[in-house]
Amino acid sequence: MTKPESLPIRPRPIEVLRQATDACRECPLGARATQSVMGEGPLHAVLMVVGEQPGDKEDLAGRPFVGPAGRLFDRAAAELGWNRERLYVTNAVKHFKFELRGKRRMHKTPAQREIDACHHWLEAEIARVKPDAFLALGATAARALLQRPVAVMRERGQWHEDAAGRRVLVTLHPSALLRGDPAQREAAWTAWLKDLSAASGLLLP
Ligand code: SF4
Repeated sequence: MTKPESLPIRPRPIEVLRQATDACRECPLGARATQSVMGEGPLHAVLMVVGEQPGDKEDLAGRPFVGPAGRLFDRAAAELGWNRERLYVTNAVKHFKFELRGKRRMHKTPAQREIDACHHWLEAEIARVKPDAFLALGATAARALLQRPVAVMRERGQWHEDAAGRRVLVTLHPSALLRGDPAQREAAWTAWLKDLSAASGLLLP
């Protein structure tokens, strides 16, 4: 259920949001995942980094950005010299969506209706954290934040504004780099760092 845009969202403590999302069954994902995964980082973070959804490792740990894609993001942040303590990291969708292949839980992209169902939780998190700006990692996050379809390859590396005037930098999700052609990995990494560096003015010590 999406909150009407005209009503301000009452900030709720992150722990309250964690418990509420854990119990949430507003879409089918909540019943299959281990637990919900809320974001981590300081209130009033300079940049809120938004990914797609928790992965297998995040689902088990109950923490965001602890899997391979999160580690790649950490590597990029370190290479750019970003102050990690000024970042808040989270996802557009709070439960892990997967399909079973044998015993393995394989990531499955959330459907638009699931992204929409989860949107009010993301807004509740934003109302609590009150970041200065956003970094959208991938199409799901970009669409959730900008509330329109986003052509990531065309719009990457640029700041955009949502209807409320919030600033959103768009780039690829790190899992796209992990899945990409190994022969192109170096070039993809360099291009990704260039995208991310558009936020460096906010994050360099
Ligand atoms: S993914 Fe979001 S909307 Fe769906 S059950 Fe989980 S918290 Fe609720």
